[in-house]
Amino acid sequence: MTIKSAAATARATVYGYPRQGQNRELKKAIEGYWKGRVTADALRHTAAGLRRTNWQQLADAGLHEVPTGDFSYYDHVLDTSVMVGAIPARHRAAVQADALDGYFAMARGTQDVAPLEMTKWFDTNYHYLVPELSPDTAFSADSTKQVAELKEALALGLTARPVLVGPVTYLLLAKPAPGIAADFQPLTLLDRLLPVYAEVLADLRAAGAEWVQLDEPALVQDRTPAELHAAARAYRELGSLADRPKLLVASYFDRLGEALPVLAKAPVDGLALDFTGPAAANLDALASVGGLPGKRLVAGVVDGRNVWINDLERSLSTLGTLLGLADRVDVAASCSLLHVPLDATAERQVDPQIARWLAFARQKTAEIATLARGLTEGTGSIAAQLAANRADLASRAGSSLTHDPAVRARATAVTDAEARRSQPYPERAAAQRAHLRLPLLPTTTIGSFPQTTELRTARADLRAGRINAAAYEERIEAEIREVVSFQEKTGIDVLVHGEAERNDMVQYFAEQLTGYLATQHGWVQSYGTRYVRPPILAGDISRPEPMTVRWTTYAQSLTDRPVKGMLTGPVTMLAWSFVRDDQPLADTARQVALALRDEVNDLEATGTSVIQVDEPALRETLPLRATGHAAYLAWATEAFRLTTSGVRPDTQIHTHMCYAEFGDILAAIEDLDADVISLEAARSHMQVAGELATAGYPREVGPGVYDIHSPRVPGADEVAALLRKGLEAIPAERLWVNPDCGLKTRGWPEVRTSLENLVTAAREVRAAL
Ligand code: GLN
Ligand code: ZN
Repeated sequence: MTIKSAAATARATVYGYPRQGQNRELKKAIEGYWKGRVTADALRHTAAGLRRTNWQQLADAGLHEVPTGDFSYYDHVLDTSVMVGAIPARHRAAVQADALDGYFAMARGTQDVAPLEMTKWFDTNYHYLVPELSPDTAFSADSTKQVAELKEALALGLTARPVLVGPVTYLLLAKPAPGIAADFQPLTLLDRLLPVYAEVLADLRAAGAEWVQLDEPALVQDRTPAELHAAARAYRELGSLADRPKLLVASYFDRLGEALPVLAKAPVDGLALDFTGPAAANLDALASVGGLPGKRLVAGVVDGRNVWINDLERSLSTLGTLLGLADRVDVAASCSLLHVPLDATAERQVDPQIARWLAFARQKTAEIATLARGLTEGTGSIAAQLAANRADLASRAGSSLTHDPAVRARATAVTDAEARRSQPYPERAAAQRAHLRLPLLPTTTIGSFPQTTELRTARADLRAGRINAAAYEERIEAEIREVVSFQEKTGIDVLVHGEAERNDMVQYFAEQLTGYLATQHGWVQSYGTRYVRPPILAGDISRPEPMTVRWTTYAQSLTDRPVKGMLTGPVTMLAWSFVRDDQPLADTARQVALALRDEVNDLEATGTSVIQVDEPALRETLPLRATGHAAYLAWATEAFRLTTSGVRPDTQIHTHMCYAEFGDILAAIEDLDADVISLEAARSHMQVAGELATAGYPREVGPGVYDIHSPRVPGADEVAALLRKGLEAIPAERLWVNPDCGLKTRGWPEVRTSLENLVTAAREVRAAL
């Protein structure tokens, strides 16, 4: 691909940037403010400094246009609720008393008032605060934050483009306020919301914005004709405003599909489209609607949510094609860079051979600037960058890390039979009953016990070299002794070792598997001030040594009761990591599954009769559009079965999921062919038990009877009542008694009493059977 030189200057831009700062300064300032150690002024000062640093970094990297308004103290959807005046009634007094404290009250709740609900931002691991709307929500414009941040960037002499959540996406992400009928559709408020957006747009125009970006990622999901119609109306109205900035409507995470002709026809000035992964389909779709004559196209050709270097030549080829389809083509990342860590050069412990394949936010902005330059001045102007990029890509493609012949041969040889248990469920259930000899309504937990300060200190001490491995292991063993003896004393039937050794349920395994990298500074915002460091699936995956056997067998050596082995499943390993982009997800999943399968088999061989494989991410990884569901569920369930199918019929396989709503993947859950499933159910009063029963789910089920998301201790009566409710749906032969999820975030005192009450309740209900 050679581009001589495009007519117009291609501009380089992004839609958002990591908020926290190189050393997570924002997290520290906000948490300090919550604890009263940092004043509001100091917090604002830190935040303004971080914004300035980010903009400067973007400009220095060669971006022509920087985003504003993407910064947030907590969440940009919550910021949008403030911008449109959608403050829930229960928070109004707090917001009026103090805007900042009121904001944090909406995000986190207070002693007396519940926060907004939090949920995942599309299929990313970022969580937003769900707007609560009702038929009498009265919107009102508050453009303070947006205008102030725009002015800050303009004062630096930069070209700045405010980025807002678009009105259609905002309403589609909202839910009915508490007490409002569940069938209330927030989208019906569109006509009331548009004038508020019009006011904000006018304010931004007055403050000096030439362009404003309105993000409409909800339009990449399957949408009804009525919803598409609403989008058309929204942009017809906003586009027809007299006094407005130029409007750039952005979409990302997938292709626009049916929404593309709608937006292409709208009287707005530009579209920003994703051209990475499945969204590459936007290219043909754009051609078939006749392009965007007279409009600006911002092309998201650099993957904004993964950590790999771009294929610059391929991107240039896409950009070259796009040149013929719009009035002007600019270059961007596919979505906000919020979803990637800040700077790959901070990872000094990563093998330099691998480090050259990595691009975090800073590296991506450089790629975008390079591409814009190549598009404007011709590929000759970026010859050196193209040559280096070609060499880096070749090193990745030819590396023995990304191509381990033994791993590949094994994955290719997998047969369907290998991914199936040797006997059907009813026969296995009988064999397990005889082998395990558990009482009716057996009690167990989901795996983790409280992660105490002592445990975290021990891990930090080990890392810092203050204690050696032997001393660390002794501390873990001491914790396991404590956990096992507590469970025995309490009378729990199937014990766990407590997961004391785990920093995190994915990272712990990633650190032990070849081909998986853990980062040191690769923090990504999960929600608010919570940041996670997703490991990176960099190469072919193999397991040099057993990972958990040592701890499980140690726990088993302390007791006659069965100790449940505990692993994170292949789908969750992928979902909470950065995945390879050089092979299908299904292939990566299969490699991880085979490594886990060896661990499962080793656990069995060393005397473990019950093994739980956690898959809390099974549902959240569902593709955004229904057309992708079947293929995803096929490889996801195969990976789980491959992990668990190598054991004897009398070894019992458990799985665990953290959510209560799974009606749409019931068939897939059945397809996992696990013997026992535990799920969250305490808050929904065992509703899942009924749903599983109605669907004819034939296996053993542990609907949670203890809500671990709060420090509250459930009374034995309360647990017994939930159990009796469970028994209305599921026969005693198939009902387990367990908490909703792991106990790692809880404190010992509440856990002790809660589990004692849980056992008391199980005994009581058992006795009455
Ligand atoms: N076994 C894990 C634990 O108990 C499961 C965690 C999860 O479901 N997210 O902590
Ligand atoms: Zn869970």
